[in-house]
Amino acid sequence: MNVIASEHAYFRRARFLMSAPAFELLPPDDGIEIAVVGRSNVGKSSVLNALCDQRGLARTSGTPGRTQHIVVFDLEHGRRLLDLPGFGYAAVKRELRAHWADAVPRVLHERRGLVGLVLLADARLPLKQEERDLLRWCAEAGVPVQLALNKADKLARQATLQAARGAQQILREFRIKKSPLTISAATKTGIDALRQILHDWFERGLKKEGPGLYT
Ligand code: GDP
Repeated sequence: MNVIASEHAYFRRARFLMSAPAFELLPPDDGIEIAVVGRSNVGKSSVLNALCDQRGLARTSGTPGRTQHIVVFDLEHGRRLLDLPGFGYAAVKRELRAHWADAVPRVLHERRGLVGLVLLADARLPLKQEERDLLRWCAEAGVPVQLALNKADKLARQATLQAARGAQQILREFRIKKSPLTISAATKTGIDALRQILHDWFERGLKKEGPGLYT
């Protein structure tokens, strides 16, 4: 079940702000931001839409790996979601891959307002080098990370638990204490729990910056 509690209602009012073709073209760094990243076709757009309870907020696409833009959504009071480009799509050209490997660490290291990153992975697949790179970059930049294993609806319960255990072991290698969440954008399983984590990050960020800044 996907229930948006009243304190989370701002997710429903999320709006597309802009699509930035390069890091330098992101809006001024004066908000509280959470980045969402994952392999192409992992269901990133579907998860964003489920989190915000909106069908067409993030565009789901049948052609993975096409856009290398950073899409920014505004969630009121300076809260923003940064939809980072997908990775790992074999047909993506080498220069686009280099662009990704440049833009993502810059977001992690240089966006002062970044309070967390959601790494989406497919519950059916083992984490690969790119996911490990992301976990390492987050650890190096001191950015809190939540791993969410999507498409859990495709797995039986035992296999889901096994996937979560495998992922937990890898998180431990990077000294990440937060357990992975198993979610499904299709059935909405785990979406409320993920939204709560994002809400907590936003709230902590807003408190740190002091009241009145983002009204
Ligand atoms: P993106 O490329 O990561 O943004 O992925 P999309 O959101 O466009 O989804 C890619 C494909 O996976 C689409 O066909 C979605 O319908 C499907 N998909 C996304 N989330 C889930 C999920 O939780 N379960 C299942 N079974 N399919 C999903």
